[in-house]
Amino acid sequence: MSDRIKKFKKIDAHSHIGNFEGWPDVRITAKQLIAQMDEYNIEKTVLSTFPIEDSIIAVDSYPDRFIGAAWINPYEGKNALDVIKNCVNSHGFKAIKLHPLFQAYRANDDCVFPFAELAEELDIPLMIHSGHPPFSLPWSIAQLAELYPKVKMVMIHMGHGHGVYIQAALDMAKKFPNLYLETSGMPMHNKIKEAYETIGSDRIMFGIDAPFHHPSVEIQRSLICGLNDKQLEDLFYNNVKKLLKL
Ligand SMILES: [Zn+2]
Repeated sequence: MSDRIKKFKKIDAHSHIGNFEGWPDVRITAKQLIAQMDEYNIEKTVLSTFPIEDSIIAVDSYPDRFIGAAWINPYEGKNALDVIKNCVNSHGFKAIKLHPLFQAYRANDDCVFPFAELAEELDIPLMIHSGHPPFSLPWSIAQLAELYPKVKMVMIHMGHGHGVYIQAALDMAKKFPNLYLETSGMPMHNKIKEAYETIGSDRIMFGIDAPFHHPSVEIQRSLICGLNDKQLEDLFYNNVKKLLKL
């Protein structure tokens, strides 16, 4: 099985660097993450870190390995909009990352609208943490997707650990063609195959969420989800490449 874990070339659609103290008690540096990527045949990682300066340094230091997703706090308004523009124009960032749970807003709150408008203007996707009440629920993200049909939005964790939220992520993605799903931290392997088959072969992508989750576990869940090798290539590599125009 270890051969199969390394077999597929991958892009990790969602991970972090940094020291997450307190209850998570996890940490990883840029160098350690690259060593881990090499071990598991991960060509590139979409990186989001707060504060964003750490992402900028990592992306500038390893431009072939890290792709920036600009994690900002929408409550900071114009300042955060300027930070995103700088990240995209000067550091090649390819997405905006929103973490409604962490910064206490709903994905469809007014404070998010200028960021959805900027994503549309820059033609880059929003990557939005999903799966935790009350702020990060799939229905709120879906309302934002309905308001901004031209903006592609990835539901990071596709509902995360709760079965009701996982199913809601699938239901909402079925309803709104601009919604995409990402697998990290989501425990149900069968839902990966179901999403691939019922939502769209290009609308689900693999991610790890380092340092919160380990690649061996995240890769294994995808490997045994029931997709064939060609389909796994979409999941592990092609879909995020296409979405972010890499
Ligand atoms: Zn994360």
